[in-house]
Amino acid sequence: MSGIYLHIPFCKSTCSYCDFYSTGQVKLLDRVVNALCRELTVRRFYLNETDPVETIYFGGGTPSVLEETHLHHFFDTLNLLFDLSQCKEITLEANPDDLSESYLDMLSRIPINRLSIGVQSLNDNELQLLNRRHSAQEAIDAVQKAKQYVSNISIDLMFGLPLQTLDSWNETIEKSLALGVQHISAYQLTIEKGTKLYRQRELGNIFPSEDELSTEMYFMLVKKLTDAGFEQYEISNFSLPTYASKHNSAYWQEKSYLGIGPSAHSFNGISRQWNIANNIRYVTGIENEKPEIEQEQLTETDHYNERIMTALRTKTGIDLFALEERFGNRQMQHLLKAADKYLSIGLLKLQENHLRLTSESFWISDRIIADLMID
Ligand code: SF4
Repeated sequence: MSGIYLHIPFCKSTCSYCDFYSTGQVKLLDRVVNALCRELTVRRFYLNETDPVETIYFGGGTPSVLEETHLHHFFDTLNLLFDLSQCKEITLEANPDDLSESYLDMLSRIPINRLSIGVQSLNDNELQLLNRRHSAQEAIDAVQKAKQYVSNISIDLMFGLPLQTLDSWNETIEKSLALGVQHISAYQLTIEKGTKLYRQRELGNIFPSEDELSTEMYFMLVKKLTDAGFEQYEISNFSLPTYASKHNSAYWQEKSYLGIGPSAHSFNGISRQWNIANNIRYVTGIENEKPEIEQEQLTETDHYNERIMTALRTKTGIDLFALEERFGNRQMQHLLKAADKYLSIGLLKLQENHLRLTSESFWISDRIIADLMID
């Protein structure tokens, strides 16, 4: 099984924390959509031909800038090129301000069966700081409307924001749970170079959340969501039973995926490829049949480290039988030796031949994972 990711590199405005590739030049939208469909045609053999496509994901950027004609173009192309008979999940990322009744109605007539809505916060001061285009009430209204058209909805939230307090985070979580969605992703803010928040921090206009407060926010999130019946199936992802994201889970299970569009990454078990992060150069390259794609062949060490990194981020953890089968007994012994100090203090656990982090150690997973990888 494999997945297809389509990157829609347009946003109507730039959020203050964002370092994803996107631009406001929406006049290029038609050309970019044509180029993405062309790229699907040219690169379809990157995936194993006999492997049916299980998931499709429109990410960005803001895929909810796409109009009905664009989506028809994508699905006509996808249906022509790939076996979609076993495609179970088709996600579109959307901003709340794009989700009008008519847009949702159109999506429900196109085979989109999952929406990932960028809510981020349900506090107006925090939303303003993040330069989001919607208020808390508009986000709530958008999710309520979306529920009438799509039965599988995920929302994104952020914590560790400047200005955010434990009380405001608690309110965001409570209101999010009251929305009755099936999936919640929650990410701690990292202030990346080149973003507006980075510049504001350099000028001393904002102060990042203290580590201790972010830690409290994380544990509040885990408790409230798990008490409400959500399962933390990955460090930042929580779902009701059977609603874990199939597309993202496939990344963590190292399944193949084809990434289409500017800056999109692809993986087929042998190499990683990534497209140029520039709309004009991307479109020109595709139109001239000279796509600008970089490629990296993965070494055995890369494969091993990726397995450690991706599997440990999930609730399932590292399957030691599968690890031994793939990398040999020596590597497995190396892993167990490196894991020993964490096993002895309860930060890792060994269950049913799987090595796993705990809910507590998820929070310090970067350090533990780095320790288990090989140079
Ligand atoms: S909508 Fe998403 S991709 Fe666009 S600027 Fe905001 S965070 Fe970045």
